[in-house]
Amino acid sequence: MISPSPVAAKAEDFRSQTSPDWCPSCGNYAVLNAVEKACAARGLASKDVLCVSGIGCSSNLPGFLNAYGVHSIHGRAAPLATGAKLANPELTVIITGGDGDGYGIGLGHFIHAMRRNLDLTYLVMNNQIYGLTTGQASPTTMKGIATKSTPFGCIENPINPIALALAAGATFVARGFCGDIAHMASIVTQAIEHKGFSFVDCLSPCVTFNKINTYAWFREKTYKLEDSNHDVLNFSAAMAKATESPARFPIGVFYRTEGVPTYEELDETLSHHGAPVKAKLALSREDGEAIKNSFR
Ligand code: SF4
Ligand code: MG
Repeated sequence: MISPSPVAAKAEDFRSQTSPDWCPSCGNYAVLNAVEKACAARGLASKDVLCVSGIGCSSNLPGFLNAYGVHSIHGRAAPLATGAKLANPELTVIITGGDGDGYGIGLGHFIHAMRRNLDLTYLVMNNQIYGLTTGQASPTTMKGIATKSTPFGCIENPINPIALALAAGATFVARGFCGDIAHMASIVTQAIEHKGFSFVDCLSPCVTFNKINTYAWFREKTYKLEDSNHDVLNFSAAMAKATESPARFPIGVFYRTEGVPTYEELDETLSHHGAPVKAKLALSREDGEAIKNSFR
């Protein structure tokens, strides 16, 4: 149930009465915290927000947010969010999930949602492992890493989510680190503010099943794009940053482009008939008579 929110909501107003069931220190807490802060910073109320997730530890997030929420099926959060957004374009729709859900099972939907440029925000809590099922290799597990499903070391190359999102046509592409909540909240706020598809790869350590990609590991490996004179409006520069050596890689906003029409703006049905959520649910007697007469 949505609790009534004052017009100027605070971050705490987006906290649900259900406490997260994540392991202590899991990176997902930082993303939840960032979403709460970002919704408040954008001046939203709980009734304005829908959070849709797939399956996985991080996909439990909608249950911990005081907003509308759908915990959907594995890899299918993007199409469900697409339907919800088209039914009610006034909603702020946030998709949350993990790397296995978004980059593995749901990869096709991930790409198609981006090329359509709906006004959606997709936050992937990337812990480079399948956490819920206790530690199998995911699409972002590094080559050579031993996991439960790769006891002799992973022999596959990991997906590069930032390069993939850029190539797929996302109009806002960023990466945050859960060890820096203020930075993550700033990125998520910008992502929600952006008109069009915004994607944030959230480096979210799984403290229980990934003992390689830890908070300390990310702190040593990452640097902020803001400190490197990066031009967020330059697509080629963004792709160059996305494909930098994995020995040291950036967090922050890689790319942003404004003025690309959204799917909702281009959709003829929406522009001619308005949002389905506002459509009349029943026919009046006169409407019924008119339909009947049209068959005579
Ligand atoms: Fe987080 Fe990993 Fe625990 Fe899942 S298993 S809640 S991803 S720390
Ligand atoms: Mg994962």
